[in-house]
Amino acid sequence: MEKPTIKICYEKTIIMSKPILGIIGGGQLGSLLSVAAKKLGIKTIILSDDPDAPAQYFADVFICGNYHDKKNINDFTKLVDIVTYEFENIPFEILDSIHKTKNILPKPEINKLIQNRISEKKFLNSNKIQTTKYSLIKDKNDIIENKNLLPGLLKTTTLGYDGKGQFKINNINEIDDNIDFSKEYILEKFVDLQKEISLVITRFDKNQYEIYNPIENIHENQILKYSTIPADISEDIKKQAIKWAEYIAEKLNYIGTLCVEYFIDTNNNLYANEIAPRVHNSGHLTINAYNISQFENHIRAVCNFKKIETKQLYNARMINLIGEDILEYRNKKLDKNVFFYDYLKKEIKNKRKMGHVTIIE
Ligand code: AMP
Repeated sequence: MEKPTIKICYEKTIIMSKPILGIIGGGQLGSLLSVAAKKLGIKTIILSDDPDAPAQYFADVFICGNYHDKKNINDFTKLVDIVTYEFENIPFEILDSIHKTKNILPKPEINKLIQNRISEKKFLNSNKIQTTKYSLIKDKNDIIENKNLLPGLLKTTTLGYDGKGQFKINNINEIDDNIDFSKEYILEKFVDLQKEISLVITRFDKNQYEIYNPIENIHENQILKYSTIPADISEDIKKQAIKWAEYIAEKLNYIGTLCVEYFIDTNNNLYANEIAPRVHNSGHLTINAYNISQFENHIRAVCNFKKIETKQLYNARMINLIGEDILEYRNKKLDKNVFFYDYLKKEIKNKRKMGHVTIIE
């Protein structure tokens, strides 16, 4: 096994007046959280296993090393007062070991529940929140026995995102021979999509929320491409989406920002697709469209700051810059209402989110 390396790549003097926030994960969400923290005078320490993690350019301290290395985790834990995370695929055992000495928000149990698509859907359904019909799949035969779910999408129960680990199956004659059944899958009935929306909410305490207006999302190749606020939806759907998100946050006793991704089908039925126990890509436009962004509210909630009334200032659109899309914007002169964010990723890769643009209206 490759020997883990630990390196503190970048450090500044830390003044201990406000809590020091540890963030696990060093992608763009970690960067944008660090920027929001800085605005509130909070220092951030990023822990990432990627030496090129872009958040190192925005945080106060960057610790780079293997998540499974106990010494590395101890170094990180000693330096921070409170911990949050920017991606959900962190083994429960690691979060739980940190949580023994330092508070992690959202709580590790919440992340564990949401990490697995089956336990996530069971939780939603047990709270009378509609999801698409689904079944646990362990082998090809399970798919045949659940042919009522076809056409459907076969997804790995854990670790999949942006369409990774997903297979569309139209009928039982079309089961891809390359499916690796050493992993567990969920087969979800394919929803005839009218549109997709997301609901970003920050919970501070019992019945204490700030809720962003529903955001309308367009995916290309299962990756989010465009987000618009407010979503063009009926009042009934809006109310239902907000009610379910509040209910989820309350039931989980959640502290911080979470996002519920919804499907609306062609008959105007609402389905919860996923819960993201973190800030969300569709919420990037809240930086420019609101007085307080999803990132700032997350920091405020986990650091026990005062809740401030969150108001929408502008309608807005966000475009994700994927792969070489970024090149067009790097030297472009932009209008005053256009805000460009470059994630400073070292390498441009196909399907990699390299930056985003928000246009306020
Ligand atoms: P997910 O990984 O579950 O977030 O799925 C990524 C994207 O794939 C979603 O945003 C949808 O555009 C599409 N998708 C996922 N599941 C379904 C489904 N059951 N029916 C229709 N489209 C889906």
